Amino acid sequence: MIKNTNGKTGLFIPGPTNIPDCVRQALNVPMQDMRAPDFGDLTLPLFADLKKVFKTQTAEVFMFPGSGTAGWESAVSNLFNTGEKVLMSSFGQFSMLWVDMAQRFGLDVQHCEVEWGLGVPHTEYRSILEQDTNHEIKGVFACHNETATGVVSSISEIRNILDELGHPALLCVDGVSSVGSLDFRMDEWGVDVAVSGSQKGFMLPAGLAIVAVSQKAMEMRGQANLPRTFLSYDDMMKTNATGHFPYTPATQMFHGLRASLDFIFNEGLENVIARHTRLAQAVRAGVHAWGLALCAQDPASYSDTVSAIVVPEGFDSAEITKIAYYKYNMSLGAGLNKVAGKVFRIGHLGDLNEIMIIQALAGAEMAMRDCGINIELGSGVAAAQETFINKNTALKSIAA
Ligand SMILES: *Cc1c(COP(=O)(O)O)cnc(C)c1O
Repeated sequence: MIKNTNGKTGLFIPGPTNIPDCVRQALNVPMQDMRAPDFGDLTLPLFADLKKVFKTQTAEVFMFPGSGTAGWESAVSNLFNTGEKVLMSSFGQFSMLWVDMAQRFGLDVQHCEVEWGLGVPHTEYRSILEQDTNHEIKGVFACHNETATGVVSSISEIRNILDELGHPALLCVDGVSSVGSLDFRMDEWGVDVAVSGSQKGFMLPAGLAIVAVSQKAMEMRGQANLPRTFLSYDDMMKTNATGHFPYTPATQMFHGLRASLDFIFNEGLENVIARHTRLAQAVRAGVHAWGLALCAQDPASYSDTVSAIVVPEGFDSAEITKIAYYKYNMSLGAGLNKVAGKVFRIGHLGDLNEIMIIQALAGAEMAMRDCGINIELGSGVAAAQETFINKNTALKSIAA
């Protein structure tokens, strides 16, 4: 198939996300001396402003050159010991990969395997932690927003369980596809490590692992014996104090991050979160109108950053994403691993607006029809349009 390359390529995947023009332009700066005495003028405000996005006053923020995966690795290698017990769960590609990483590092992972489409198994977590009266479990891990299935899990509920049981384990959270786009409250939820990356809610290229670490976790790191060099919190701390880094940082990314944080604060973080909810509701209305189901089983767990849509029996979702890509110049998210071929995803995360969501739905409708799925053209689009007209109170008041 020859790819249609006219116009703008529609990017409706849950990362890398669309980069606002002002952010993309901010990345284009001459190289500069990362040891210059005033380098901190650029970087120190970034650390301070990132805390606002994670909603923490007291955590240490780190920026490693790397993707979200490096953030995961920093949490595992800086805070835990070989053979140490941790509680983890997997219910999608990303939660599964963090488990795999912890196992490769030699942690003793108590692994709750959950059906894909569900989220963190709170009841199971509670009973496991309840039985752990000697507090051998040193870390409780959770993927806040499972990007492969579009499932969001309550982190505050895990905090409540730990508090009710008086359990001191560190709460380690994957917020790669939620921080900066979904409600995320590091301090209020007592999160000890929150991992994020630059190419999702921060609307940047991949290249920065952004990690926030509580003071409690920082104190634990002295006892952690796993080797870490490139991702060492200690090495970072020594130089970060003046806004410098232990090795060459990705300077352009800092300029981009400055612009993206300004962009987020200009819209207002709460407005950013509300926009993600609004766009997600429209996508879900479209899916409902198609007569299709989401991979996420519990409506309370529907993600506002990504929807994984189950294709009818007998159809291959990879065909849909392929046709969308070549024929309509748009990327929809593929089904990963266990749900490969079974779901396609619409990423509604990052710099998106109402009209772009309509495009995503219209394109998905055409691609599904091309594959022979019996979808009434325009049905999902119309349902989404209705939600924008009726539910968008901000726009309503402008029209009135
Ligand atoms: C994207 C993503 C990751 C992995 O991030 P990379 O930047 O690809 O390394 C981890 N967790 C979640 C939930 C993600 O969405």
